[in-house]
Amino acid sequence: AKMVYYFGKKKTEGKGHPKALLGGKGLNLAEMTSIGLPVPPGFTITTEVCGDYYTHGKQLPAGLMDEVNEAVSELEDELGKKFGDNDNPLLVSVRSGAAVSMPGMMNTILNLGLNDTATEGLAKSTKNERFAYDAYRRLINMYGDVVMGLSHHSFEEAFDKVKKKYKVTEDTDVPAEGLRELCDAYKAVYKKQAGEDFPQDPIKQLQLAIEAVFGSWNADRAISYRRIEAAKGNSLIANLIGTAVNVQAMVYGNMGDDSGTGVGFTRDPNTGQNKFYGEFLINAQGEDVVAGIRTPQPVAEMGKWDKAAHKELMEIKKKLEDHYSEMQDIEFTIEKGKLFMLQTRTGKRNGIAAVKIACDMVKEGLITEKEAVMRVPASDLTHCLLPSFKPTARNAADLLCRGLNASPGAAVGKLAFTAQEARERHEAGEKVILVRRETSPEDVEGMSAADGILTSTGGATSHAAVVARGWGKCCVAGASDVTINEKAKKITVVNAEGQTRTFGAKDTISLDGATGDVMAGEVETQEPKLSGDFAQLMEWADKYRTLKIRTNADSPADSKRARDFGAEGIGLCRTEHMFFEADRIIHMRAMILADTDDDRRAALKKLLPFQRKDFEGIFKAMAGLPVTVRLLDPPLHEFLPHDAASQKQMADELGVKPADIKKRGEALHEANPMLGHRGCRLSITYPEILEMQVQAIVEAAINCSKKNIDAIAEIMIPLVGTAAELRILREQVEATIEKTKTAKKFEGELHILIGTMIEIPRACLTADEVAQYADFFSFGTNDLTQMTFGYSRDDIGGFLPDYLDSKILPVDPFQSLDQAGVGQLVEMGVTKGRSEKTKLKIGICGEHGGDPASIGFCNKVGLDYVSCSPFRVPIARLAAAQAAL
Ligand code: ADP
Ligand code: MG
Ligand code: MG
Repeated sequence: AKMVYYFGKKKTEGKGHPKALLGGKGLNLAEMTSIGLPVPPGFTITTEVCGDYYTHGKQLPAGLMDEVNEAVSELEDELGKKFGDNDNPLLVSVRSGAAVSMPGMMNTILNLGLNDTATEGLAKSTKNERFAYDAYRRLINMYGDVVMGLSHHSFEEAFDKVKKKYKVTEDTDVPAEGLRELCDAYKAVYKKQAGEDFPQDPIKQLQLAIEAVFGSWNADRAISYRRIEAAKGNSLIANLIGTAVNVQAMVYGNMGDDSGTGVGFTRDPNTGQNKFYGEFLINAQGEDVVAGIRTPQPVAEMGKWDKAAHKELMEIKKKLEDHYSEMQDIEFTIEKGKLFMLQTRTGKRNGIAAVKIACDMVKEGLITEKEAVMRVPASDLTHCLLPSFKPTARNAADLLCRGLNASPGAAVGKLAFTAQEARERHEAGEKVILVRRETSPEDVEGMSAADGILTSTGGATSHAAVVARGWGKCCVAGASDVTINEKAKKITVVNAEGQTRTFGAKDTISLDGATGDVMAGEVETQEPKLSGDFAQLMEWADKYRTLKIRTNADSPADSKRARDFGAEGIGLCRTEHMFFEADRIIHMRAMILADTDDDRRAALKKLLPFQRKDFEGIFKAMAGLPVTVRLLDPPLHEFLPHDAASQKQMADELGVKPADIKKRGEALHEANPMLGHRGCRLSITYPEILEMQVQAIVEAAINCSKKNIDAIAEIMIPLVGTAAELRILREQVEATIEKTKTAKKFEGELHILIGTMIEIPRACLTADEVAQYADFFSFGTNDLTQMTFGYSRDDIGGFLPDYLDSKILPVDPFQSLDQAGVGQLVEMGVTKGRSEKTKLKIGICGEHGGDPASIGFCNKVGLDYVSCSPFRVPIARLAAAQAAL
């Protein structure tokens, strides 16, 4: 196969070839050349060659250097320069460039082709000795670094010596004379460390540089980068075969004050504003801008320095956007007033900018509505829905450490060390951050009162993370550099510099849930805006999607918020969360402690009004839309306190002995509660719990009906594994509905369906039988994943990182549905269920309902709706549209 593709005046061979072959940089250099932009000519060695290099024990394939030599001759012809010439030498850069951009991860060598004679030649032809020796010293240094792996430190020492000798501090102030001496010093360093002279043969330099770029493909940092990106769901990056190598004629931004180099975005990547956003440096070579050696100037100021070059850059911005119909991230260099383009690629941007750019581009006629819908990564919409830190404040913040970015958002507050403290201080009007080693269901009230949550252990699916995400509350989890002393009300943090810092209840910290950063003090935030472009994009999404979007909510406030975000119903209302509030848990506990059915019923009777009120509120907030209420699911021991102090308190409240509570707790203890006495199994043993809940639902619906509020209830029975369970419980539900209607003398019509959560593999396997007794199915993919893999969701943290590292799992299956395994069960559940009832209504209500990839799958297998947390509703709307297009 052809190994080398030329781009230049005579021909652009790469145009129209796949990115996978030429890499992003190579393909775009060819495309820019072909649309007439000023690009220094050169050639691209394909990614296949890199693949070959690795499959053949790090040997360049036979014939490669012949093709390279040929391309070099063409380059020499086009430019009228020769490699190694002592008059007007050709110099090139040797640049890496994979199909997926890996910024800064691989190597690039500039000024290649210089040797002792060519440097003289360059000095002569440019009449600029200083420039020539500056280029040479950069080459020796870079080549030593990249090709030979020499220590950068020795080069720096040599440079410092020269600077000292000439009494200057800036690189740019060293005179030609000094740079000439520096080149000699660098060659000595090179020889001493490499054990041989700096190579004078440009072709040899080129060959070794090509190998070095191939080598950098498997440098540790490049491998890590690919692994991290793959874990984030970038599936393209996992399948790459290697990097391409771009050999390109040099242009010089360091030829004097009429030269310079810069980088930029064709639109603002933070705000999306249609305004060129970039920086440039006068008299500098490419990498200086990124390396931060000197402070660059904004491109907006460039006109003052070189009006023509600035104007040309703005014309190029337009040409690029017209060509790519996309915002570009570019590199350019100005050599003696002449502008050259060195790179372009799709510009990375945050969600806010993505939405604005997509909408603007539709208005500008660059893309269609459908393209705009496809353009915005659905998950990035979170940026639009949450408060965020002002970028300037964020940059200036005092960073303490970094934990897991468990739930995005920006939170600022003082430290609270227990849930109770968080609640009390919140009620007193304070903004607090709840800091815990890890949270438990007992902490939920404190979590809800806190502005943000910080935990020192636990992963992205830990309790804190899941709950926080559900609420759109900022959470940084597993910040292992933080040590919490709950008693002393202090945390200590060891920062990156190894300093230990201590913070107490009066100290303010700021959490960035999007990055996992923990910062000292108050960092300024900004509120989100949901109108304008955001609303426009949502409108387009709704036009093209077919899946319905519901939400998981268990309070009127959450329901209302979700409705504002566009939810078309509630897919999962978890009733157990309703029992944790202080005035209710006591009755719940009394119920659990009860020895007889009658005592149990008496306690449940006290819970009934609370439940009825909850449901009424939710039905009202969701008037006209379906509300799926799941009957009690968790094992009862979750409602009992575990430590002695709380047990004592509970005993006092209930007027019993602490020992009784301990005993009951022990009796309820299970070796494996996840697989224990929970879900529908509770209702089989304690039918009175089901009866109370159904009665509350029906009474709430009747009350709504009397107020002309259209309540649509879907009663969902959890954890069904056999048709018989559902048959028995359905009868009980139906009987309770009738009984309640009679008791209330209600004659009107109620909209109540009875269905089940499908979350046990056996339910999928026998879905046809289960469907006989179900008006609807809702896949509970959290439990289904747990039971299909046999992984406990709460214990996955122990091995998940290793599983991701060794690619046993591509992603956390609790975050993105395992389509190959769990997905088969879902598909089977759908097919079998609908073989019994063609029109069976089917949805999904696990964490997966808000994950774009999983939503794509749900769309494919024909679900009617997905249900996700309120804050993910807009994301789901967009993802559903993307799945449909
Ligand atoms: P990266 O992928 O890390 O950005 P690049 O291959 O783009 O690496 O190159 C690093 C720097 O060198 C960039 O700033 C680029 O503009 C500059 N550069 C690359 N090739 C040339 C060239 N032929 N002439 C001038 N500068 C170049
Ligand atoms: Mg670059
Ligand atoms: Mg479940």
